[in-house]
Amino acid sequence: MTTNQELFHRAQQLMPGGVNSPVRAFKSVGGEPFFTARADGAYLWDVEGRRYIDYVGSWGPMIVGHNHPAVREAVERAVKDGLSFGTPCAAEVTMAETITRLIPSIDMVRMVNSGTEATMSAIRLARGATGRSKIVKFEGCYHGHGDSFLVKAGSGALTFGVPTSPGVPTANADLTLTLPFNDIEAAQALFAEHGADVAALIIEPVAGNMNCIPPRDGYLAALRELCTRHGAVLIFDEVMTGFRVALGGAQAHYGVTPDLTTFGKIIGGGMPVGAYGGRRDLMEQIAPSGPIYQAGTLSGNPVAMAAGLAMLELIQVPGFHQQLAARTRLLTDGLQSVADGEGVPFSTNRVGAMFGVFFRAEKVETYAQATAADSALFNRFFHGMLERGVYLAPSAFEAGFMSSAHSDQDIADTLEAARGALRQARG
Ligand code: PMP
Repeated sequence: MTTNQELFHRAQQLMPGGVNSPVRAFKSVGGEPFFTARADGAYLWDVEGRRYIDYVGSWGPMIVGHNHPAVREAVERAVKDGLSFGTPCAAEVTMAETITRLIPSIDMVRMVNSGTEATMSAIRLARGATGRSKIVKFEGCYHGHGDSFLVKAGSGALTFGVPTSPGVPTANADLTLTLPFNDIEAAQALFAEHGADVAALIIEPVAGNMNCIPPRDGYLAALRELCTRHGAVLIFDEVMTGFRVALGGAQAHYGVTPDLTTFGKIIGGGMPVGAYGGRRDLMEQIAPSGPIYQAGTLSGNPVAMAAGLAMLELIQVPGFHQQLAARTRLLTDGLQSVADGEGVPFSTNRVGAMFGVFFRAEKVETYAQATAADSALFNRFFHGMLERGVYLAPSAFEAGFMSSAHSDQDIADTLEAARGALRQARG
């Protein structure tokens, strides 16, 4: 039998860090990753045959569970007709109709192949449409690996960005201004000084890349107002929140309308997909109807469209998101009471089917609070859960995802595992 360890050792000789995307390597939590052989419903099985209850869900898209028969069968049907055409196909039109119907702020949409492509394209559009060059992002928010986004704040809220990664030119990073999430005064001050130069403000409406941090009451509406007043394009990056925190995404949940929205993996039902869309007057400026260039050989791929459409069909069943939110609450309330019972400082955040756990007693509302939580304790807890057959995201700064395949028994088993893992982690 091939073991996880054997595969990882081979992988490390051949791929940077042994992986094709960094967080999979378990660097943050320590130890070595497992290699998945198969996934079904709420579970992953590794190459050694060990089963895990999965709260990562391929980082979001598996909202109906892994390998859902309706999605798999749609893919099987599509595959019979060919894998890629390089011409328009009917499924792209159905996908555009579905997205524009479910998300009223989107008049027109362009399919791409990843979340990164969606966000890079959206800011190009915002820059092209406004004739301005600066963008505003939030510390702790992730929008893919485009040069403009690999930037974090300096010491002050208004400092010009410094690159987070070698290879990002400072000239590029200089155009990205960063703000603390959930601090409206900082945003007001930034716009008062730089408003006339800001092409776009991009935000994860529920932050999912610094664990899970919901916006404070009125925060998104205040950002909307600032963007409108200063002529900046408001972009909601709904790669994680889209179709998850509500059928209409975070914009429906909070009742705030962005100018552009970016989506990722979830609309591909597990296939490599992304999309950006929004106001018609903006989207019409994209080539070939307008001068702002963006293209993709495999964009609108027929197999990916079939998977995404089948998944979007399933989540439109009335009550789907309410049930998913109730199940998420069962988990986070359960974890809280287990932690309370064990005397471990702990808090949770939750919006719809997205959640976060923090080893910190007070509620977490900011990036500074998220980074102040006890991440060493999280790392021990993570490994304790893994040993007990529960797979949480391998970092204290990632959100968790619930699927409709998780049963009450899975949640009860998770809570039982948490009791043991917490005792062990606390030492
Ligand atoms: N935006 C957000 C909010 C994300 O969480 C991610 C990835 N998790 C991305 C963009 C980038 O998407 P991708 O990894 O598909 O490029």
